[in-house]
Amino acid sequence: MGLPLASEARLACLENRTPTIATLCSHSSLQIFHGARTEGYPTLGLCVGAPPKFYDAFPLARPDRFLSVPTVKDLPGATERLREAGAIIVPHGSFVEYLGPEAFTSMNVPVFGNRAVLGWESDRRKERDWLESAGATMPKLYEDPREIEGPVIVKYYGAKGGKGFFLAKNREALDEFRPTGPYVIQEYVVGTRYYMHFFYSPITEGGYRLEHGALELLGMDRRDEANIDELYKLGAQEELHRAGLRPTFVVTGNVPVILRESLLPKAFEIAGRIVERSIELFGGMVGPFCLEGIMTEDLEFKVFEISTRIVAGTNLFISGSPYSDLVAPGLSTGRRIAREVTLARATGRLSEILS
Ligand code: AMP
Repeated sequence: MGLPLASEARLACLENRTPTIATLCSHSSLQIFHGARTEGYPTLGLCVGAPPKFYDAFPLARPDRFLSVPTVKDLPGATERLREAGAIIVPHGSFVEYLGPEAFTSMNVPVFGNRAVLGWESDRRKERDWLESAGATMPKLYEDPREIEGPVIVKYYGAKGGKGFFLAKNREALDEFRPTGPYVIQEYVVGTRYYMHFFYSPITEGGYRLEHGALELLGMDRRDEANIDELYKLGAQEELHRAGLRPTFVVTGNVPVILRESLLPKAFEIAGRIVERSIELFGGMVGPFCLEGIMTEDLEFKVFEISTRIVAGTNLFISGSPYSDLVAPGLSTGRRIAREVTLARATGRLSEILS
């Protein structure tokens, strides 16, 4: 038995009933609802204003019911209605971003996964401490620009989608950088990007074992990022700079990828150590997470980010992926979440996967 994440009082609203899977109508909600419905759960779409019309186009993923609020900030006010509905909230990136970490953390509704992970993910320094103390290699950070060797990427704190990132091929090129806020200078890792979709279950028997529970790989993608992905067509960076064109890394879509099979052991090893460390630091990162990094030509995986909940790249695999099909046919991350709820209910271990 692992440590309980949720108190009995928080889970009281789920007693002796089939829970309802709820999430905000955005990001990966179609997949979450589809997965829950496939596993036999009722679904509830949280929306701002009228239910989104595009859901009508996807009848197998449309939630059974909607709970509408005037603005996202009114969601905490719907706590009682959510508890009455026996809701389990499945958080995704947009949910936490729109609502804000504090409002999200304080909602007294059962949430899938460990909400304490937010404090570690949203603070870049704490995130680095966690990942590096787990033995992951991260891009080097330069405190002093005079120490720079090779290309760098300058990131503003809290910058979303890479807007405002500055690329410099070397120390000299950084002279052109005119900061407009607090930033960090990071080694620009040259290689190929992989966004690996893992799922950690503290309650599953068998599989790829960790000290407690099992680790699964459910898919992998690469993000399409505008304008950087197509910028090379216009010529050299220096010329673009002079023309006032700046690179941005705004995610516009995702493409499926797989990793050389010989690199899979390394990927599992790093992900496993990150999970083990999360258990020591804050009780564990339960459920889906995404390890985001760059494989260099020396086959070293440098992690630049971790997303500690379902990522939108998993939407590629609503009917399964080359990896998840080897766990269970047609298994999406959304469906895996619903299965975890089923297993936890059957074994009386909901408090280990909900917070
Ligand atoms: P982030 O906001 O940290 O998730 O980064 C957004 C995008 O910038 C990533 O998806 C990568 O394409 C790129 N990127 C971030 N950090 C690095 C790095 N250290 N080296 C190369 N590319 C990076």
